[in-house]
Amino acid sequence: MFNSLSDRLTDTFRNLKRKGSLSETDVNKTVRDIRMALLDADVALPVVKQFTGSVRERALGAEVSQALNPGQQVVKIVNEELVSILGGATRRLNLAKNPPTVIMLAGLQGSGKTTLAGKLGYWLKDQGHAPLLVAADLQRPNAVTQLEVVGERAGVSVFAPERGNVFGHDAALESGEGTRSFGDPIDVAIDGVAHARDKGFDVVIIDTAGRLAVDVDLMRQAHDIRMETNADEVLFVIDAMIGQAAVDTAKAFSDGVGITGSVLTKLDGDARGGAALSVATVTGEPILFASTGEGVKDFETFHPDRMASRILDMGDVLTLIEQAEKAFDQSQQREMARKFLSEEDFTFTDFLEQMQAIKKMGSLKQMLGMMPGMQQMRAQLDALDDKEFDRVEAMVRSMTPFERSHPKQINGSRRARIAKGSGVSPSEVNQLLERFGQAQKMMRQMRKGGGGMPGMPAMP
Ligand code: GDP
Repeated sequence: MFNSLSDRLTDTFRNLKRKGSLSETDVNKTVRDIRMALLDADVALPVVKQFTGSVRERALGAEVSQALNPGQQVVKIVNEELVSILGGATRRLNLAKNPPTVIMLAGLQGSGKTTLAGKLGYWLKDQGHAPLLVAADLQRPNAVTQLEVVGERAGVSVFAPERGNVFGHDAALESGEGTRSFGDPIDVAIDGVAHARDKGFDVVIIDTAGRLAVDVDLMRQAHDIRMETNADEVLFVIDAMIGQAAVDTAKAFSDGVGITGSVLTKLDGDARGGAALSVATVTGEPILFASTGEGVKDFETFHPDRMASRILDMGDVLTLIEQAEKAFDQSQQREMARKFLSEEDFTFTDFLEQMQAIKKMGSLKQMLGMMPGMQQMRAQLDALDDKEFDRVEAMVRSMTPFERSHPKQINGSRRARIAKGSGVSPSEVNQLLERFGQAQKMMRQMRKGGGGMPGMPAMP
C-alpha cells in the first residue's frame, strides 16, 4: 500500500533538497507533482484540491526555521497536511458510560465487516472487555455461519438469530426485498443488545448486511438499526482497495446512515491507497482502525501521524526534529552545523553534550523508534534498555579531557581505568570505542557525500 505514492513524493522532495531557497516556480512545480501523485493514487479530487491548496499557501508563506532548509520545510508542511486529511489526532473508541457499548459495522458487501467483527472482538477481549458479536446480516445466506466461525476463531461469543426464522426459500429475501418481514435484522440487533445486557457483555458489535452497491433499502435498514439500538459507534468499513468509488460510497453511508468513524480494511494489499487518504475528509469523521490481513490479529489502531510518516517513508523524523529544535538552543545548532561542515573530528566532548540534549528530548528507545526503517526492527528496539545510555554516559565522564578529544590514544591501561571509574567491564569500554570510531568514520563519509538520511537536518 502507498508504495508508489511514497516513491513519487520522495522523488519530488529529493529534487527540492538540493536547493538553497525556494522560488514561487519551485513551489508551483512541487505542488503540481504532489497533485499528480495524489491523483494517480486515486485520492478524491476535492481532497487533492484542499491538500495542494494548503501546501502551496504554506510553502509560499514559508515558515522560517533555523533548523530546516527549504526542502525540509516543504516535507514538514506536506507531512502536517497529510496528518490533517487523515483525520488529525488519533481517535479512540467511545465506550458508553452505561454498558453495553453498542458498535455497529456498516459498509458494502465484501468490505470486510464480518472479518473485522472478529478482530475488534478479539482486540476488546484482549483489553479485558466482554464483547458479544451480533449477526444482523441476514442478507447473505451464509453470513451468520461466517460470523460464528469468526467468533469461534477469536474466542468471542456470537448472538445469532434462530436459524428457522432466518433461512428458507423466500423469494422476497433472495431478491433482496422485504427483509423486515422475514428474519428481521433490526429485531436481531435489538435482541442482541438485550441479551448482552442480561448476560453481562459490555460491548456489542453488530455485523450488518451489505450490498454490492449502495441502495436505499440497505441504507434505511442500517439507519433503523442505528436508531433502534441507540448505537454509540457506527463504523463505516471500507475496503482500501476500491479507489475512486470510495468517495461516493463513503458519502452515501455518511449521509444515509450517519457514521461516527471509519475502519480501513485490506491495507495489506497493494492498492494505491486513495480510499485511505480520502475517507476521513469526505465523511468528516476520523478513521479509528486499520485492518491489515485475514488473521484475527491483523488489526491496529489507526494513527494519522504514523500513517503520514509511513507514506513519506520517514519514520517519525519530524517529531524528532521538533524535539531536537526544542532541546538544542540556536548557538548549539550553529556549533553543530559548523563542526559538521568543518574537517574537525567529532569528539567525546561533543558526544557528551549531545547526549545531554538528547536526554532532554525523551527516552532513547522512544527516539530510536521514530527513526526511518525502525518499524522493521521492533524486536531489537524492544530489547533495548535505556539504562545502557546511562552506562555510556558514565564511561565518557570517566575519560579525561585529553581522552575525550583523542579517542584513538586511549590505550589498554586507560581503558582499564575508565572501566573501573565507571563501574563497567573493560569489554564495554572497548565496544564503545569501537562504535565511536565507526560513527566518526560515518560522519566523515556523510560530509563527503554531502547528505545524511532523507529528511534529516545535519543532525548526528
Ligand atoms: P463482509 O461482506 O463485509 O462481511 O466482508 P468479509 O468480512 O466477508 O470479507 C470479505 C473478504 O475479504 C474475505 O475473504 C476476507 O477474508 C477478506 N478480508 C477482510 N479483511 C481483510 C484484510 O484486512 N486484508 C485482506 N487481505 N483480506 C481481508
